[in-house]
Amino acid sequence: MNPLRLVLLLILTAATAIAQTANDSPNDANKPAPPQSIRSFDPAAIDKTADPCIDFYQYACGNWMKNNPLPSDQVRWARSFSLLQERNRYLLWQELDSAANNPKTPLEKKYGDYFAACMNTDLVEKKGLEPLEPALKRIGDLKDASHLASLIGELASEGSTAPLYRFGVGQDEKDSSKEIAQIGQAGLSLPDRDYYIKDTKRFVEIRKQYVDHVAKMFTLAGDTPEQAAKEAAAVMEIETALATVSTDRTALRDPANHYHIYTVADLQKLAPGFDFNAYFTDIKVRPFDTLNVSTPDFFKGLNDLIAKEPVDAWKSYLRWHTLHGSASELPKAFFDENFAFFGKTLQGQAEPTPRWKQCSSMTDEALGEAVGQDWVKQNFPPAAKASMDQLVAALEKSLGDDIKTLPWMSDATKKEAEEKLSMIRNKIGYPEHWRDYSAFKVKRDDLIGNAERDAVFDRAYNLDKLGKPVDEKLWGMTPPTVNAYYNDSNNDINFPAGILQPPFFDPNIDPAVNFGGIGVVIGHEMTHGFDDQGSKFDGKGNLREWQTSEDRKAFNERTECEAREYSGFEAAPAHGDVPAQYLNGKLTLGENTADNGGLRIAWMALLDTLAAEGKSINDKIDGYTEAQRYFLSFGQVWCQNQTEQAARQRALTDPHSPGKWRANGAVQNFDEFGKAFGCTKGQPMYPANSCRVW
Ligand SMILES: [Zn+2]
Repeated sequence: MNPLRLVLLLILTAATAIAQTANDSPNDANKPAPPQSIRSFDPAAIDKTADPCIDFYQYACGNWMKNNPLPSDQVRWARSFSLLQERNRYLLWQELDSAANNPKTPLEKKYGDYFAACMNTDLVEKKGLEPLEPALKRIGDLKDASHLASLIGELASEGSTAPLYRFGVGQDEKDSSKEIAQIGQAGLSLPDRDYYIKDTKRFVEIRKQYVDHVAKMFTLAGDTPEQAAKEAAAVMEIETALATVSTDRTALRDPANHYHIYTVADLQKLAPGFDFNAYFTDIKVRPFDTLNVSTPDFFKGLNDLIAKEPVDAWKSYLRWHTLHGSASELPKAFFDENFAFFGKTLQGQAEPTPRWKQCSSMTDEALGEAVGQDWVKQNFPPAAKASMDQLVAALEKSLGDDIKTLPWMSDATKKEAEEKLSMIRNKIGYPEHWRDYSAFKVKRDDLIGNAERDAVFDRAYNLDKLGKPVDEKLWGMTPPTVNAYYNDSNNDINFPAGILQPPFFDPNIDPAVNFGGIGVVIGHEMTHGFDDQGSKFDGKGNLREWQTSEDRKAFNERTECEAREYSGFEAAPAHGDVPAQYLNGKLTLGENTADNGGLRIAWMALLDTLAAEGKSINDKIDGYTEAQRYFLSFGQVWCQNQTEQAARQRALTDPHSPGKWRANGAVQNFDEFGKAFGCTKGQPMYPANSCRVW
């Protein structure tokens, strides 16, 4: 995956903080309970007092929302994603716990040790800050800002947190067969640049609490309160300056705003005060002449900041990121302080995530293709892959039919679209070849060391791609992941084994429910190839305009319709003197387009499938027609409860709309919904005018 660009996911999952208790161990008080079973189609979730023509989401999910309050360790709790994530993670924990106690192969020993090191909080307590001391000492020795680049390179080369910018190797957007170096903005701690520069009452308050938190972390690390306050102010000053020169995430969705090929010499001219070559030498990247500088203005701004800030401010900034980057792997006092701000204050999370969950997730992140080999043996039967192949083929056919009948597109552009569709590659379940972890050393008594060696191992793996042919068989998600993605440089759709389970996919249920679940997911990922971002890439994954200028104009009018529509959807209500938060229709445009297209083409595939089986969309099961079951299955994927803080944060940072609008937004743009539920034209879910791209 491109290190600087998000591929188009089905959902965005947030990192969570982990809990620490004195005697955390998978074998005692913290032993997980088996997760609840998940129904593919749940009539009990329906709120029959609601009118599906007025608020379909309330109808499909109302009872579920009422009966499933947010668990204390969650900020968002979704009927499909969260329940399945909890189930998959429980199965993963069983595997890890067994590997930690009784490994049967060297690979099991490796991931068992990684998990065991994470669970050993007694040792974490005993070690204190000792594992971070080499990094903190390096930072303390910084003589002047001219050595900043080599210091960051040294920190990175040792696997320590190295903030300020991201550097890695990824596919060239204009020549997807090439792996090139890429560099771009980073270095903030709060969720978005808006948190630093917008002067709403909420952000002003959050900034104050953030500075207090940074100071408390410095105090815990041994500084006097006076020193800590001074250091925290310096951190805030540097991060605010970085936020000011950062490009906002909506603008970054447009390749024109993140694709700028520079020579290394020209990059150096952007920021003469930062010795990029020293950094490149330290991290051992092979020499290269050109790279993509995704955000040139950021590096100009960084140069000004280097000239302006005293060396002590930089030391404070790097020291903060070292503490913050490892906060959940440090002793309880650090952990609790980190959770109090980043979990409770920012996101409204009541209790930390139990440690067994976080250690399972961390092990999956570090060694996913080791852990995943056993996981798929247990949880992904070959029949599931065969069913998915059939479903994907059905969806491909219906997207082809949809393109053929689009009212606004010329024949010349249709031909290009069909060619792109025919070139989409499908990856289902898990990789053909598993990653080799033999160079990654894991120690059972070294949690932070393992994380550092993991970072070094991952960086070497990524940098080694430079100049080599692209390996299209690699995966960007681990097998137990409950998610899916489209990668526009590879023009491929990817469905990890973890999502190919109820409630998305159930081999024992009627087709309407599966098409409303996994069918829409497949359609969503395919449509990403044709959304406002994906449509700029051709079938080979290269940035190339393949629409005629008239078609592009018509396309833009249609996407603007959706952007306006979703910008009118409320993400969090007003209360007191806090104004309502609305969605950003331009940030969420690609995802909303994919949701709308996915719902339409999965419906078409369902009609084809029912016709082939001699069945009708009006056949009833349990009192609902197949048409209604299709839409209910789709709607119930999105049932969720979440904290207000999380809702507000996501409205600014998440390119996906919240569940309510993923359901209601898509159905109100699709007339078949109104017909299925007998709505009257003009009702909210069956409007007289709606938006349609695909
Ligand atoms: Zn998506």
